[in-house]
Parts: sequence; C-alpha cells; structure tokens
Amino acid sequence: MAFKKVEHIGIAVKHLKESNLLFEKLLGTAPYKEETVSSENVITSFFKTGETKIELLESSHPDSAISKFIEKRGEGIHHIAFEVEDIFAEMNRLEKEGFLLLNKEPKKGADNKLVCFLHPKSSNGVLIELCQEIKN
Ligand code: ZN
Repeated sequence: MAFKKVEHIGIAVKHLKESNLLFEKLLGTAPYKEETVSSENVITSFFKTGETKIELLESSHPDSAISKFIEKRGEGIHHIAFEVEDIFAEMNRLEKEGFLLLNKEPKKGADNKLVCFLHPKSSNGVLIELCQEIKN
C-alpha cells in the first residue's frame, strides 16, 4: 500500500491575514477557505494549486504547537500531508515499521479530514500528516 499523493503542505505563519495576501500573490489564487481548528489551537487557510493544496497555519493560542514551532524555528514549512486510502491500515503499518504516531486514533482535522501525525524525530525531522477524506 502506498500513499496516494501529497495532499497539502502546511506552512506556519505569524499573521494569517498578511500571509494570505502574500500567498495569493505568489499562487495567483485566493484562499478558498479559512477554518478554525479549536482542538489544535490554529486558524488555517487553504489554497488550491492543482492536485495539491497549501495550508497556512496561524496559532490562536500561545501554547499551541504552531507557536512553539515558530519560536524555535521561525516561520516556514511545518508539515507535509499525504492522502491515504485507509488511515487505520496506514497507521498500523507505519507503527510496525517503527514510526512514532503522535495520536493513537485518527482525529478530526481541518478540511473535513481524519488525520494522524508522525513524530518528526522518527522521520528525519519532518512532521508527517496522514489524512483521509471523511465521506459523508
Ligand atoms: Zn495539515
């Protein structure tokens, strides 16, 4: 079983409004949605670039993971998200391969997705997100 594609790239930003304007200029398209994910203490915006999306993430709380990330490493690429067919099967497979799952159960993420994160220390410093669309 393989990942289907890079679903989106997450970028940590300090000021979502300013970054929305910057990325609108860069990508030639406006964000198609803005969404607050209270469980993660973030406000996100999404841009479509062909098959892939760009997700901008601004912290909504000083203790959030995004705040800590920006404190340590500054603004920039925060995670790469891969779309998978079956998130439960992939979580199982990757755990057996020795990757560290940050959540034992998939959780509800932004953009109508079930998500699971892999700890960057088990993947060469890259935070990996697995995501699967929730079908209604
Ligand atoms: Zn993401």
